[in-house]
Amino acid sequence: MGRTSQASVADKLARLRLSFRKKAEGELDELTVTASRLARGGQPRPGSIKDIASAYSILHRLAGSAGTFGYTALGDQARRLEQRLKPMAERRPPDTNKPLGFPEEHAQQPLDIIVEIEGLRSLLDVTDEPVKGILEHPYSSDPRSEPTPDIHVILCGLRDEAADFLEHALSNYGFLISRMDVDSLSLNGKPGMSAVVTSEDTLVEVSRVLGALECAGGASRPPLLCVGRQDDFKSRYFLADAGADAFFPEPIDAPQLAERIERLVNEQNESVSGKILILDDDEHLVAHYCTVLENAGFRVKAISDPETVLSELSEFRPDIMLLDVRMGAYSGTTVAKLIRFEPEWVSLPIVYLSSEQDKHVQLEALAKGADEFMTKPVSDDYLVRTAQIRCYRARQLNELLIKDSLTGLLKHSVIKQEVENEHARCQRMSHVSSVAMLDLDHFKAVNDQHGHRTGDIVIKALANLLRNRLRSTDQIGRYGGEEFAVILPQCTTCEAQKVLTQICNAFSDISFATADGDLSVTLSVGIAALDAFDFGSDALDAADQALYERKTAGRNGVTVFHQV
Ligand code: GH3
Ligand code: MG
Ligand code: MG
Repeated sequence: MGRTSQASVADKLARLRLSFRKKAEGELDELTVTASRLARGGQPRPGSIKDIASAYSILHRLAGSAGTFGYTALGDQARRLEQRLKPMAERRPPDTNKPLGFPEEHAQQPLDIIVEIEGLRSLLDVTDEPVKGILEHPYSSDPRSEPTPDIHVILCGLRDEAADFLEHALSNYGFLISRMDVDSLSLNGKPGMSAVVTSEDTLVEVSRVLGALECAGGASRPPLLCVGRQDDFKSRYFLADAGADAFFPEPIDAPQLAERIERLVNEQNESVSGKILILDDDEHLVAHYCTVLENAGFRVKAISDPETVLSELSEFRPDIMLLDVRMGAYSGTTVAKLIRFEPEWVSLPIVYLSSEQDKHVQLEALAKGADEFMTKPVSDDYLVRTAQIRCYRARQLNELLIKDSLTGLLKHSVIKQEVENEHARCQRMSHVSSVAMLDLDHFKAVNDQHGHRTGDIVIKALANLLRNRLRSTDQIGRYGGEEFAVILPQCTTCEAQKVLTQICNAFSDISFATADGDLSVTLSVGIAALDAFDFGSDALDAADQALYERKTAGRNGVTVFHQV
């Protein structure tokens, strides 16, 4: 998908607004007809309650949506009328065989309301600026539209020697590296940069340039890391104050620097993205929400039929869900309860989108199984921010559940399950996938000679390298202490061997700075074709066997399993 230009987003929102207006005109016509039918003769008659219910439902919808499209006055007035009709609309006839009619105390009310309903039409000409705030929205960069998922690091204002060292060391991790001086950063810098590494001498200047780019481009400033020789409290304080996000004293520990860059970049990306499922039966409103959220970097799936919710959840696997409270015959609060029947979705954050303003009703609805209430009309900013906060928290919680704390890779049980899932996909779609087992060579000796802490750094470095070198569709797990499992979907063992050999070479090139001098570590890999076995676990065993063969054949390299 190409980057959505701001102009086309504005166009899309304008078209949605026009289409909302057309629909609202039709609804107001319908309301006026209903109103005049109610007014005829001034007396309640059979069918009046049905008319009131239909008028109420139109007013409720307008109250919740008009503001989003810039018709705030219409929305406010619809809300007032909706509140007045509510007691009548909610009254159920005690006996359906009896003729329907207004309760005595409300008999005169419709007449006043009718006059006001007729006045609603004129409010379609009173608009505010509905899309204001969207065009200059700070979260407008769409991370998915970047041409490459690589982390692009700019080395700016470093001495040649330090820049040479970092260019080599960081490219080992799969980072894309560019070198620039401060002037060319200000001319060529753009939101595509993932992180900037600079020196203490140029930090202030670089920070200023990035600040200016941020204002001009609308995207948030990339993380700024500083390297330098001065390492005391005062100089660190100065750097923090001048805008540095991290500081690395020389001699630079490259694996640590790479890890920090990756963490800062991930934190920044995570806070602006996520997957959102919206269930709402108002198609105009949904189209508007989708445009606004997609423009802010989210992946959004919108559905209007509550009956499809469970299959859509399984298919799309959202981070959060936005749920309308009233959807024709269905109630959102009951749908939320039903979603919670499934153990898998017990902790899915659900945010209600509702025109309900009564705090008690909101609380009741929350008690039934959602996490937050957004009262319609929801402003674009509020929608985006709520989605960001909820997605970020949901992802953090999920990470704790499924990811290994040292490396951030999938835990043993999760990667094993993913192997079975991919095995099933291979069978369903008849494609070819590979699995690999990786194990660090002579790692006991690393721990024994350099300490457990250095051992941990080596493990993390391999995790970072794998993340950066493999495709985003590949899955990586920490299988055991210094053992890793990798799933490469739609990849032959031959292709897998090629990419993993490159990884082995890059890894053995990394030099770890230790108290006893530089250290390099190698890695052995076994590969098997996932689709060639009856079960995923058999393929993992085969990869493990190939790994063992590699170990006995001299380590530091890749062996593919071949059936004998
Ligand atoms: P080989 O080349 O045959 O794989 O030799 P090896 O020394 O790597 O083999 P072995 O499996 O015997 O040793 C693995 C070592 O990894 C033992 C254990 O102390 C260490 N280890 C496991 N988990 C961790 C960890 O989380 N951190 C550190 N620092 N060491 C770990
Ligand atoms: Mg080992
Ligand atoms: Mg081992």
